[in-house]
Amino acid sequence: MQPFDYIIIGGGSAGCVLADRLSASGRHRVLMLEAGPTDRRFWVRVPIGYGVLFHQKAVNWMYQTDPEPGLDGRSVYHPRGKLLGGSSSINALVYHRGQAGDYDDWAAAGNKGWDYESLRSTFDAIETHNPADPEAPHLTLTDNTADCHPLGSDFANVCHQGQLPWRETPLREGEGVSSYLTTTRNGMRCSSAVAFLAPAMKRSNLQVVTGAHVTGIGFEDGRASKVTYRHRGKPVTVQANAEILLAAGAVGSPQLLQLSGVGDSKHLRNLGIDVTLDQPHVGQHLQDHYGINYIFKARQKTLNDIFGKWQGRIMAGLRYVLTRRGPLALSVNQFGGLVHSRPGLDRPDTQIYLNPMSYQSFYKGRRRMMKPDAFSGFIIGFNSCRPKSEGSISIRSTRSDEAPCIQGNYLTHKDDISEGIAMARLVERLQETPALQHVLADTPLTPLSQMSDEEVVHDLKERGGTVFHLCGTCRMGTSPRTSVVDSRLRVHGLRGLRVCDASVFPNITSANTNAPTMMLAHRAADLILEDTA
Ligand SMILES: Cc1cc2nc3c(=O)[nH]c(=O)nc-3n(C[C@H](O)[C@H](O)[C@H](O)COP(=O)(O)OP(=O)(O)OC[C@H]3O[C@@H](n4cnc5c(N)ncnc54)[C@H](O)[C@@H]3O)c2cc1C
Repeated sequence: MQPFDYIIIGGGSAGCVLADRLSASGRHRVLMLEAGPTDRRFWVRVPIGYGVLFHQKAVNWMYQTDPEPGLDGRSVYHPRGKLLGGSSSINALVYHRGQAGDYDDWAAAGNKGWDYESLRSTFDAIETHNPADPEAPHLTLTDNTADCHPLGSDFANVCHQGQLPWRETPLREGEGVSSYLTTTRNGMRCSSAVAFLAPAMKRSNLQVVTGAHVTGIGFEDGRASKVTYRHRGKPVTVQANAEILLAAGAVGSPQLLQLSGVGDSKHLRNLGIDVTLDQPHVGQHLQDHYGINYIFKARQKTLNDIFGKWQGRIMAGLRYVLTRRGPLALSVNQFGGLVHSRPGLDRPDTQIYLNPMSYQSFYKGRRRMMKPDAFSGFIIGFNSCRPKSEGSISIRSTRSDEAPCIQGNYLTHKDDISEGIAMARLVERLQETPALQHVLADTPLTPLSQMSDEEVVHDLKERGGTVFHLCGTCRMGTSPRTSVVDSRLRVHGLRGLRVCDASVFPNITSANTNAPTMMLAHRAADLILEDTA
């Protein structure tokens, strides 16, 4: 294969943005390698297909953490997208930038240019609410308020009575509860692949190879120069003239660095890997949002009554086919936002979810999203915005097809436990509002008001789970002694290699991580092109 200027590893949320931006001028030859297949699948395009893709091996890496010490040894299931669009093709479609302070903290850690004021225009450059405008950016955000479940007006009353700031229009940043904006266009998923890659694929200077599982990055004199991948059972090596851009996500990027000899030298030598660079921070500082759902039986019908019954499914299906609207066109997460769990905090510490549907059944330890409870139910759930527990990703062998060890270390920091208690008490406060009592058909399944703090924590450990926001495993920072990449996303100590995905977040953002990842990739492309000019 002829050399390319840029080789992008991973066609996910970040990779698709990079492919678009780096190929736009037509001056650079760009190759994007994606381990999974294309995203041309029915359940990828239909928003509610989220529940189907959650366990679908063909498009999902389906990781499992090692036993978690903070969860009494329980292992946590981690779906990750393995197809064009990556996790943005299988995610729950919620779009939220987080809060300004998240990025101001990135900048305060020495990462120049990553403060919120500087990044605001980058976010603006990827978002549109008007897909009909040919000049608008391609990522369509939809306000679904009119189509959300009627329980939304009860949720609004619950928030008013529980002193949470309810907003009538969906929020894309900062404090407040509203219906969620979604990455959908005309009732279909608008993943990073749909928004950015599909239009770019018409360009002759962009080549995309699916089914290309990258096995390693090759170096010459400290410069990343080639990529090796397996395609249709055969190894292929391709040269990069300018740069290699690692965008394989918070699990895949540190895994590939380690397989390529960039990581903790002791660990690599033990596995028989030649060390390219001793960098113990590769794979460390894993952050994620850990949350829990509380389930309530409702007096009125909820989405359980639609998705749990064949008549409901047929009606919703027909409505979707005829109008592209209705519950199939929405996220399962219809309402929520960022709030304070208690007075005296300088910024929101809790992301809350109010979903007009409930599901609790598990299959092989995994939540069954497409199996709603047999009663009319809904969920109030939360996760901490900025948990302090840190985990890790580390390879187990030299085999690139073996899943690495993922250790979330959830709830191992004492502050995450005390925050969990405060957030559960916030839900208890909401439970006691007349507005919530009004919709309840029965006492709450989890009787928080009768539970001690110890019981609340036990429940959090036993039933809680990830909100799928892995990040931080190749974090950005000023020094190789504390971080993997610099503020231009170049790997410290090596040339020709950047990491441009959720793994470089210096700290987890407060809300859902797809928006910050696509923003980050957009800015990464600016930095790459500036440095090439
Ligand atoms: C089930 C689920 C629900 C979520 N819900 C939301 C939500 O509602 N809102 C939100 O904002 N965020 C959500 N997220 C998180 C969000 O989607 C991710 O944070 C974001 O997509 C991460 O982008 P990324 O580019 O870092 O990684 P990814 O999008 O995961 O992309 C990495 C890509 O690299 C590929 N890859 C990995 N290893 C290799 C290799 N060796 N060779 C070739 N290719 C490789 C992968 O197949 C993948 O396509 C969710 C995530 C999941 C999994």
